[in-house]
Amino acid sequence: MRRFKLSLMATAAFGLATAFTVPALAQQPATAQAPKETPWTNRSLDAHTRTELLLKEMTQAEKLTLVFSHFASDGEWLNKRGDIAGLNWTQPKESRHQSAGFTYGVERLGIPHQWITDAGVGVASQRGPNPRLRTVLPSGMATAATWDRKLAFAGGAMIGKEARLSGFNVQLAGGVNLMREPRNGRNFEYGGEDPLLAGIMVGEQIRGIQSNHIVSTVKHYATNPQETNRFTISSNLSDQAARQSDLLAFEFAIEVGNPGSVMCAYNRYNGVYACENPYLLDEVLKTDWGYKGYVMSDWGATHSTIPAANAGLDQQSGYPFDKGNYFAGPLKEAVDNGYVKPERLDDMARRILWALFSTGVMDNPIATEISDANIDFAAHAAVTQADAEGGIVLLKNERNLLPVAATAKKIVVIGGNADKGVLSGGGSSQVYGVGGNAVPDTSKYANEFPGPITWYPDAPLTALKARTKADVVFHDGKDVKAAAKAARGADLVIVFGSQWTGESFDAELKLDHDGDALIAAVAKANKKTVVVLQTGGPVFMPWLKDVGAVVEAWYPGSKGGTAIARVLTGEVSPSGRLPVTFPAALSQLPRPKLDGDMTKPDLRPDANYDIEGAAIGYKWFDKKGLKPLFAFGHGLSYSSFGYTDLKTSTAGDKLSVSFTVTNTGKTAASDIPQVYVSAPASANWEAPKRLGGWDKVTLQPGESKGVTVTVDPRLLATFDTVSKTWNVAAGDYEVILARSAADPVTKATATLSPRKYDVRGK
Ligand code: BGC
Repeated sequence: MRRFKLSLMATAAFGLATAFTVPALAQQPATAQAPKETPWTNRSLDAHTRTELLLKEMTQAEKLTLVFSHFASDGEWLNKRGDIAGLNWTQPKESRHQSAGFTYGVERLGIPHQWITDAGVGVASQRGPNPRLRTVLPSGMATAATWDRKLAFAGGAMIGKEARLSGFNVQLAGGVNLMREPRNGRNFEYGGEDPLLAGIMVGEQIRGIQSNHIVSTVKHYATNPQETNRFTISSNLSDQAARQSDLLAFEFAIEVGNPGSVMCAYNRYNGVYACENPYLLDEVLKTDWGYKGYVMSDWGATHSTIPAANAGLDQQSGYPFDKGNYFAGPLKEAVDNGYVKPERLDDMARRILWALFSTGVMDNPIATEISDANIDFAAHAAVTQADAEGGIVLLKNERNLLPVAATAKKIVVIGGNADKGVLSGGGSSQVYGVGGNAVPDTSKYANEFPGPITWYPDAPLTALKARTKADVVFHDGKDVKAAAKAARGADLVIVFGSQWTGESFDAELKLDHDGDALIAAVAKANKKTVVVLQTGGPVFMPWLKDVGAVVEAWYPGSKGGTAIARVLTGEVSPSGRLPVTFPAALSQLPRPKLDGDMTKPDLRPDANYDIEGAAIGYKWFDKKGLKPLFAFGHGLSYSSFGYTDLKTSTAGDKLSVSFTVTNTGKTAASDIPQVYVSAPASANWEAPKRLGGWDKVTLQPGESKGVTVTVDPRLLATFDTVSKTWNVAAGDYEVILARSAADPVTKATATLSPRKYDVRGK
C-alpha cells in the first residue's frame, strides 16, 4: 500500500473499476535527444518567445499529451485492490523505475518526456525491490533550522544534480506548508512556521535544484497543514489571513526560487478542492502574483475535468491515483464541445513549455546513459553533512555538559539505535540511502506506506568514538532499568530519543518506544545526562528539568551521525535555531484537539483556521501571552555574542536595520541575530510581532561584523482584500534585535509614513 492507509483506500481515493481504462489519447513518442534546429531552439530568444513559437506548431493531441501525467511505479499494490480490479496498472515503459511520475513528450517537436521524482531531501524511490540509493539531506525542518540561505541552495543544487544524473528532469521538492499544526506528520518536509523564513529557505532550495536545468515544484498549494482527513478536509481561512501567512510563504518561495511548477494540494480551501479552486489557482497564483509556470495536481488530488481545467489546473498528475483520467479523453471532449475553451488548453501547454524553457530542460537533455558511477557521493556527503551541522539546535546546556569534556573517561551512550544509524521521515519523500537501512523494519510499516521506517547507516556512536579518548559504552535502552544502571557513575551519559513521523498520519508530540520513560530513568540515575533528539518537529519533554543538555538533531540525513558527533564534541559549535515553536502543552495550541478523524476517511471535516488566522506559531504564543517550552528562533552556541549599534533607516521607503554582532566568547561560531518588527496598535496586525529578517554570521572569538537587514514591505503591512493592496499604517514601529522570539536583546524605533503597495508588495 503506498500512500493511503488500507482503511482509507477503499472508497476515498479510488472509484469504479471502469474509470481506470488506459487514457484514450495517442501518446507521442519522445526521446531525450537534442531538438533539431527550429525557431524555438534559438537560445538567444527568451523563454516566452520560444514558448509561443513552439506552441503554435502543436496539434491539439500534442497539447493534451503534455497535460496528462502518470504514476511511474508498478502498482502491484494497486492491482491487488478489489475496487479497481481490472485496471492491471503497469508503469509507462519509458518511465524510470519506482519513481513518482511520468509525462510523455512530443518527439516531433523536441519536447522531452518529463521524468518526475520526489522530493525535498533527495532523489526518492517508491516502495519496491530495487530502490535507487542516493544522498539524503536533513529534513526540510532541519534545513530551515540552519537559517542559512547558502546551505539551502547548496543542498538543493546537490539533490537536483543527483536527480538529473538519475534520469529525472522534474523534482517534486519545495514543501512550504507552514506549521499550523505541530502534530502534522509531514512537518519534517516543510520549512517551519514563519512565512519569511520558510519562504526564503525553501525558495533557495528550489533555486538550487533548478540550477541543474530541471523543474522543481513548490507544494502543497495551499493550506494543507495536517494529514488527518487530508483528502477531504476543508481549510477554512479568510483571504486576509491566508495572504499574510500560508500564501505569503508560497509567494516568497516563488519569488526566490522561481519554480517551474506548483503542486496543488489534496485538501479543500474554503470548501473547494485546492486543485479546482479558482481563488487559489487563477486569482491569487496566476493573476495576482503573475505566476508563469504550471500547476500540477498532487497524486489523487484531481476531482474533475471541467471545473479543474477552468479553475487553473494545468496538469493532472499521478494517474491512476485519481478516480478518473480527467485530463485525457474527458478533457479532449470538454474542449471539443466548448466547456473548456481551446485557449485554456493552450494556456496549460504554454505554462508547461515555459517551465521547460525557462529552467533549461529543453536545452539540456537528460543523458541517455544513466549510471550511479556518475554521482560524486563523497562530495555530496560533505554537502549533506554541512547542512546537518548547521541545522542541529542546542536547546539546553547546563552544568557545562557540552561540548563533551576532553577529561571525560567514561561515556555511556543509550538508545535510539545510536550504534546503527540516524532516522528518516517516511512517505513519498523517502530516499533510500547508500548503504541501505541500518535497522531493518520489523514493524507493520515494513510493508505499508509510509514505511519502511528507515535509518541511514551513519552511526552517532561510531562517529563519537572516533572523536573522544573516553571509554564509550553503548546500551540499547530497551531495558529501562538496566540502562539506568549502566548510566550510573559515568562522566557523561548521552541518551537518544526519536520520533518517526510520516506522510498520511499525524503524530503525537512524544518520543517513540516510551523514550520519555527511558530518558527520565537515565536522568534520575545520572545528572550528567545529555539528550539527543531525532524528531519530525516539536515534542514535549516531560524530563526537561532533570537533564543537563538537549540537542535537537531532527532527521539529520545520511551524514547525520557524524554531524551529531561533531556538534557534541565541539568540532563544530551548534548554530541552528528553531524554525518552529515547541509548545509546552496541547492546551496552548489553537486546536488542542486535532480536527477530523483518521479512522473515518469519508468524513469531510472543516478546519477553522480563522481561530488563529495569520497568527501562527510564535505569533499565536505572543498574542495569547503563552510561554512555550522553547521559543521560535531559540538555539544556544558554545560561544556568546553581543549585539550593539542598532540603527534603523527608512530612506528610500524601505525599512533597513543595521547593527554589529561580536563574538564575545572563546570559540569560533556562527550566530543568527533575528530582527522582529512590531506595529502600533492602530495597524491591527494579527499578532504583536513578526520576523522581519535575519542574518547568519560566522565569527572568530573577538571578531565583529556589521549586518544590515532590509524588511520586506509586506511584513510591515496588512493586506486589504477589497483593494488588493498591502497597507503600511503610519506610526512608530518597534524594531527588536533578538536571539529568539522570546529573547529580545535591544530595541529601536522606526517611524513609518502611511504607504500602499500593490498586490505583489511593490
Ligand atoms: C504527496 C506529494 C508527492 C506525490 C508524488 C503525494 O502523496 O503528497 O508530496 O510529491 O505524492 O509521490
